Amino acid sequence: MDRKILIVGNWKMNLNVSQASLLVQRLHERIKIHRGVEIVLAPTMLTLQPVSTEIDRRKFRLSAQDAYSKDEGAYTGQVSFAMLRDLVSYCIIGHSERRIYFNETLDTVKEKVSAAVRNEITPIICIGETKIERQSGETKQVLHDQLTTAIADLTSSEIDNIVIAYEPVWAISTFGGEIAKPNDIKDIINFIRDQISHLYGLGTAKRIRVLYGGSVDDNTVTSYLEIPGCDGALVGGASLNYHKFSGIVDKASLVYQKSKIRIK
Ligand code: PEP
Repeated sequence: MDRKILIVGNWKMNLNVSQASLLVQRLHERIKIHRGVEIVLAPTMLTLQPVSTEIDRRKFRLSAQDAYSKDEGAYTGQVSFAMLRDLVSYCIIGHSERRIYFNETLDTVKEKVSAAVRNEITPIICIGETKIERQSGETKQVLHDQLTTAIADLTSSEIDNIVIAYEPVWAISTFGGEIAKPNDIKDIINFIRDQISHLYGLGTAKRIRVLYGGSVDDNTVTSYLEIPGCDGALVGGASLNYHKFSGIVDKASLVYQKSKIRIK
């Protein structure tokens, strides 16, 4: 493994300002600086600012969970990528909860990805099929459509700085939480890189970071991180529990160290 493992904790709509502050304190106590692991926290929009003043930036970076594609204007209730650009390094885009509960379309996701890149925020683009789509054999078609539309407006230099998170909807804890088999995930990660390779060439396909997400915790994370081509994990529920999240980071660090020994 020649790059850091990326672990992203998506807190979703959980934790008010004081609860978030408490979790950050606990994470600071538990997590040391890891050379081989990049740790990203994705608090709510409300808590991003206070959390940004509390984190040790040698340990943690920040992500938003969503933002609006226009930079400014009369869009009541929205916060733009332009407003977030000095605050966060990443933004999760196209999470299945946004696609399912907030009717985000392929085009909405595409516009948000472009807005993120325009504002120098790395998009973490979530793609994943539902259980019904999987059962009907549509997985690859769904992933192809989600992926290729999301990145359609990016230039070949912009494409290098995106992250793809494969999150089968049926494996996300709030949508069923089935435990995905690492072998199945390996096939899909290869499929994702093949799609990128087809559009942007092999070099780009190798460079792009691809994460897995879906009920990952400190017990299962190693089996996913050991999949060739898997660069990290997007963690939902377990990121709210500092024992589990720091355990995930420890396991990631071990996987990184082992991979270094193997390369030597
Ligand atoms: C998610 O919602 O992105 C996610 C991976 O959630 P969980 O880890 O709880 O399944």
